[in-house]
Amino acid sequence: MSLSKPQSKLTVITGPSGVGKGSLVRKLLESHTDLWLSVSATTREPRPGEIDGQHYFFLDKDDFIKLIEHGGLLEWAKFAGNYYGTLRKPVEEKLVEHRYVLLEIELEGARQIRKSFPDAFQIFLAPPNSIELERRIRGRGTNSEEDINNRLKRAKDELAAKDEFDAIVINDDLDAAANELEELMGLLA
Ligand code: 5GP
Repeated sequence: MSLSKPQSKLTVITGPSGVGKGSLVRKLLESHTDLWLSVSATTREPRPGEIDGQHYFFLDKDDFIKLIEHGGLLEWAKFAGNYYGTLRKPVEEKLVEHRYVLLEIELEGARQIRKSFPDAFQIFLAPPNSIELERRIRGRGTNSEEDINNRLKRAKDELAAKDEFDAIVINDDLDAAANELEELMGLLA
């Protein structure tokens, strides 16, 4: 496993829908108060329990397009029929303050960040196998069959791109994966 760029202040975590990025990131944030997670903008509908400004900034399509046009996003992508993007201003502010910044985003966004922030540390979170991934995507119970199929198709493309990343972490056991991430990001020092 490569240990390149652990000193970088900007870390990107990418991996297919359902792989457990959210749970892993929450676990990291609990034990590392110096970490800051970017809250993305999206046009998708909130899931039950999701709070505007906390899980995402939920925008309508027109407002999202305006953000793109005004250069308000560091990166953005369309995923399973909706737009997702990282707000530029808060991320740049945290980096100026030398905070550790975490982006939890899909593949197209990670590729854009690789161009604009070549020093960012890019981690790919992979499932133990594709059967388990499908079980996790379906197990959420909040996605339509069409949405599930879109996410499964996209998962194949994302998995095929895992070697583009600085490191690959397999999320079989959450604690073990969190530990590996902490080590890769240099958070255990
Ligand atoms: P979900 O709808 O399951 O919350 O997210 C769908 C996908 O969009 C996930 O892979 C998630 O990581 C990704 N995503 C969330 N926020 C962003 C963002 O700001 N930019 C990009 N490119 N992808 C995002």
